[in-house]
Parts: sequence; structure tokens; C-alpha cells
Amino acid sequence: MLHGKIAMVTGASKGIGREIAITLANNGATVIVNYNGSQEKAKETCDLIESAGGTCEMMKFSVADSEEVSTAVKDITAKYGGINILVNNAGITRDGLVMKMSEEDFDSVIATNLKGTFNTIKAVSRQMMKAREGRIINISSVSGVLGNAGQANYAASKAGVIGLTKSMARELSTRNITVNAIAPGFITTDMTEILPEDIKETVTKQIPLGHFGTPKDIAEMVTFLASGKASYITGQVICVDGGMAM
Ligand code: NAP
Repeated sequence: MLHGKIAMVTGASKGIGREIAITLANNGATVIVNYNGSQEKAKETCDLIESAGGTCEMMKFSVADSEEVSTAVKDITAKYGGINILVNNAGITRDGLVMKMSEEDFDSVIATNLKGTFNTIKAVSRQMMKAREGRIINISSVSGVLGNAGQANYAASKAGVIGLTKSMARELSTRNITVNAIAPGFITTDMTEILPEDIKETVTKQIPLGHFGTPKDIAEMVTFLASGKASYITGQVICVDGGMAM
């Protein structure tokens, strides 16, 4: 389905990003597996892709650092000719009530989740425009759609990703580039594993389908949006959340 396509997945060392990278590769894409700190885990992602017969390359950079992003995209473009599919998945949480939230915790979440998404889009958009094709898929969150007590920084960053998605969809539409967001609900990864059991139980009661999702649930939607089957979809926010945000 994605043979001949080059996909860059940010934050692909583990969790949802790893599953996205594996699923895109299983569908034929050559995948750039970005990571920031977890080199060993990024290697595990690549090993899983390669052992299934797929093609990938690990690449270390912080999405929050515009120079690192720009250098990485230049290197990928020089080697592979360009990026066809960009998946902005890298993200962090620094949860806490605003009263107690440090400025640093607010800024770092915005810098990674929102500005990181801006940085990669800015770096790839020129060559995608020249190629007159491209797919950009941004991972937002149910918290960005509904808001969440204790996650003001994270929810603001993810709501920002939605505004960025819609604006970029409008800016890039004439060049046959689609830009969509996925808003996952609660998905079983390291990010949600740290939640206390009582919070997990309270959250589960708010999910109509009655359970957390899996990284595969998100990876399948990314693959669909990256494929030819989704060529008439742009500027959308697709909730993959067991019905939480309906
Ligand atoms: P995770 O298991 O904590 O993984 C986060 C990934 O982001 C890691 O690969 C990490 O790489 C990478 N990352 C963090 N900062 C980075 C940076 N500055 N530059 C490049 N990569 C960076 O999280 P997850 O649960 O899979 O979440 C993935 C995405 O889905 C995030 O955007 C998250 O907000 C979103 N999401 C998750 C859920 C959920 O329930 N899990 C729900 C809604 C939305 P290193 O370890 O190498 O730094």
C-alpha cells in the first residue's frame, strides 16, 4: 500500500510511535525512526521492522530543536529524495494543577508537543510543496479536545496541534498535501502506565467502550490517513478514543 514512500515518525522509540513505525513499514514504507533519548529502544523498533522484512533508519534529534530538525530533514532528503509521510507523534507530559505547575513544566510541554510539530512541518513543507504531494498526520489527544484537570499544559499543547493542523491543511491544500490530526483517548503505553490505579479506574468508567486502547488502534488510523484511500480527507481531527469525546 505504501511501497516507495518515505515516512518519518517522530518519537518512534516506543509506545504509539513504535507501533506506527512498524505498521507503516509492514505496509511497504521506508521508515525514519526518530528518537531523542532512548537509543536502545529505537534500535528495538528498527530490529522489529527489519526482522519482518521492512526497511528503516534510526535518526536522533529533538523535535523541540529547530536546527536539529532542519539538519535531519536535509540529510533524509539528500539520501532518499524527500519525505512523503510525516507523522508527528513525539510528545511528553508534565502533569500537575496550574497552581503548582512550574513555568518550566508548561514551557517544555509546549516546546515538544506543539513547537516540535511546527518545527517538523516547517522543515518538510517546502519539499512536499515542490513534490506536489504529501501526508502530514499529527498526534493530538482527547485532552486537547475536551481539556483535562491536571493537564493544562498538555491539553493546551494538543489543542494547539489541532489549530496548527487545520491551518496547515488550508495552507498546503493546493499542493495536494493533506494534514490531519488523530486524537487518541487513553492508550496503554509508558505514558499512561504511570497513572495511579484509582485514576485508571475513574478514566475507564468514562470510556464508552469500557477499556483503554492499544497503540495498534492508532497505528491503523495513521496508516489509513497515509494511504491513497484517504486522499480526500484533510483538516480533520479523528478521535480514536473508545467514544470518550463524542
Ligand atoms: P511514550 O511511550 O512516552 O513515548 C513518547 C515518545 O516521544 C518516545 O519515543 C520519546 O522518545 C519521544 N519524544 C519525547 N520527547 C521527544 C523529543 N523532544 N524529540 C523526539 N522525540 C521525543 O508516549 P506514547 O503514549 O506512545 O505517546 C505518543 C504520542 O501520543 C504523544 O504525542 C502523546 O501525547 C500522544 N497521546 C498518547 C496517549 C496515551 O494514552 N498514551 C493519549 C493521547 C495522545 P525518547 O524516549 O527517545 O526521548
